[in-house]
Amino acid sequence: ALVQADRTVDSVCPYCGVGCALTYHVKDNRILHVEGRDGPANQGRLCVKGRYGFDYAHHPHRLTVPLVRREDAPKQAHATLDPARWQEVFREASWDEALTLASSGLRRIRDTQGPRALAGFGSAKGSNEEAYLFQKLVRTGFRSHNVDHCTRLCHASSVAALLEGIGSGAVSNPVRDVALAEFVLVIGANPTVNHPVAASWIKNAVRQGTTLVVADPRRTELSRHAWRTLQFRADTDVALLNAMMHVIVHEGLVDPAFIAARTVGYEDLKANVAAYSPEAMAPVCGIDAGTIREVARAYATARASMILWGMGISQHVHGTDNARCLIALALMTGQIGRPGTGLHPLRGQNNVQGASDAGLIPMMFPDYQRVTDAQARAKFEQLWGVPLDDRPGLTVVEVMDAALRGEVRGMYILGENPAMSDPDANHAREALASLEHLVVQDIFLTETAVLADVVLPASAFPEKTGSFTNTDRLVQLGRQALQPPGQARQDWLILQAMAQGLGLQWHYADIGEVYEEMRQCMPSLAGLSWARLQREGAVVHPCPDEDAPGEAVVFTDHFPTPTGRGRFVPVDIVPAHERPDADYPFVLITGRQLEHWHTGSMTRRSAVLDQLEPDPVASLHPLDLERLGVQPGGVVTLRSRRGEVALYARADDGTPPGAVFVPFCYAEAAINKLTNPALDPVGKIPEFKYCAVSVHAG
Ligand code: SF4
Repeated sequence: ALVQADRTVDSVCPYCGVGCALTYHVKDNRILHVEGRDGPANQGRLCVKGRYGFDYAHHPHRLTVPLVRREDAPKQAHATLDPARWQEVFREASWDEALTLASSGLRRIRDTQGPRALAGFGSAKGSNEEAYLFQKLVRTGFRSHNVDHCTRLCHASSVAALLEGIGSGAVSNPVRDVALAEFVLVIGANPTVNHPVAASWIKNAVRQGTTLVVADPRRTELSRHAWRTLQFRADTDVALLNAMMHVIVHEGLVDPAFIAARTVGYEDLKANVAAYSPEAMAPVCGIDAGTIREVARAYATARASMILWGMGISQHVHGTDNARCLIALALMTGQIGRPGTGLHPLRGQNNVQGASDAGLIPMMFPDYQRVTDAQARAKFEQLWGVPLDDRPGLTVVEVMDAALRGEVRGMYILGENPAMSDPDANHAREALASLEHLVVQDIFLTETAVLADVVLPASAFPEKTGSFTNTDRLVQLGRQALQPPGQARQDWLILQAMAQGLGLQWHYADIGEVYEEMRQCMPSLAGLSWARLQREGAVVHPCPDEDAPGEAVVFTDHFPTPTGRGRFVPVDIVPAHERPDADYPFVLITGRQLEHWHTGSMTRRSAVLDQLEPDPVASLHPLDLERLGVQPGGVVTLRSRRGEVALYARADDGTPPGAVFVPFCYAEAAINKLTNPALDPVGKIPEFKYCAVSVHAG
């Protein structure tokens, strides 16, 4: 007979930024199944991850006791460890011993080598409250701003361009506004795989008459629904987008009233795009001039046009430039500030928006208040009662470089797995192994945790309550459905104990108290009390007033810039840092696949998802497979200047000849060993979407 749940708990999905509402059906501290709930972002819909990606919480690999590294266990940067054989490297410890060792090691480094010898990576999978506590711990306990998280690896360049251009790093309109748009451009994103429920809203809109254009070097499933598919050459985003702007300017399709009233810098932009005619750019980007012209016209002249983008735009050394072009397109046509228009960088993790809002970034306090701004600093010094550094901290990749230079000596990592997710992962692993003291707080013994001195067993998503902010700026409540296994603890309690070990007087009674302190310093949440969030479950920010709904569409009459106007920033073509050559003739593009999430630590331990996609795969065009003499399903070895991996070949005629696409979730074929750590100079995001590799049979 089917087992019946004895209770249900309403929560949200732990995976992507769409933020689907769901209900856990629970019996005896186990989730039996998950059901979609009627939330604002999903109206009951769930993708395969939301529906089946829950049993990782019950996996036998869960960490259930604190672990301390054995004195005779050297840190081997390139070794792998079967989690079932953890005793070879670690011994069990009591919470008292582990917390004392963890915090005293960090304190010793701070006191002997200075605050900037420490760094912390928080997590976009944690709640807003956990993100707030983590950045506060680093800023006040480590006493530097060396705090960052995976936003650096996904939309840091988009956020940099948005802050510069329109004064806010968040989306202007929610995903579901596609239903109100006459024209939608999806560029550098594969929502069918990465934001599946968002893709379903886009497809619904197309069925109701919205014109869809999909632009991406890989042809994706969403193209089947598109009016035009622009499969442009990888790395030529600026050529394509400047050519579209050239058409709009030279055919008189701009919105002069909007430009005059709400923007600055148009004349410079206009002068810059003069050289980028579609005829000149067609051979560069591989899209014929006529198609560029008709797409530009359609975008500019539609009643309401919306742009959604993903990491195909952001993960380049010119990622900020790419996003600047998208912003300029919206500003020159007045396609922003109304329903069905605007700019939507699709957020990856379920709380990457909230973790960034809560200050988990090295140059900004909560709500993007700059650490270099004396007024902002004074406000946080008063709230937190300690003096604060006036220099921005280091970003994710910079921290690893500093570790290898001997400048960063200790780290605290909560819920991130840089040994898998950082570019040039061998280099990242060497950096982690070189640390004097590494503390990792996680639910599994990840590839990062095996390099730790102390491992603190944390809580999985369904084991805690907290607020999470989706890609639409929708703050939602995730509710606790399970007790953590064994001695594992809730993350905020571990953070509080670590803070106390660092000498901080933290005595929060519950997570609601943390939220209310966070709200005091975040104007965007001023009208959203913890009590209101409990009551309503989902409220969009900015929410300045307790009695009003939040603002789903922003920038209706001004931009939150010092002048109130949007700013055009002209850009020119900057080539990828590493181009293919005779030795490394293929372009490597990395990303995700539908069934797995990021570094795979959760979804590869979810039985259904793991059965659907059990093995590492490299997608190649059938012509390339033929040239290589490899059958689909055969083994290929990929090499770059930084490393090599072997995986199974998959035939994919959506991947252009000369390119290879690999998801980054497979530890046994960790593709980030090959990726290039070259950074966008503004957003400091690595170039995950382009590096040179060779591909060999076998
Ligand atoms: Fe979860 Fe995203 Fe899938 Fe929704 S679309 S169920 S939030 S992974």
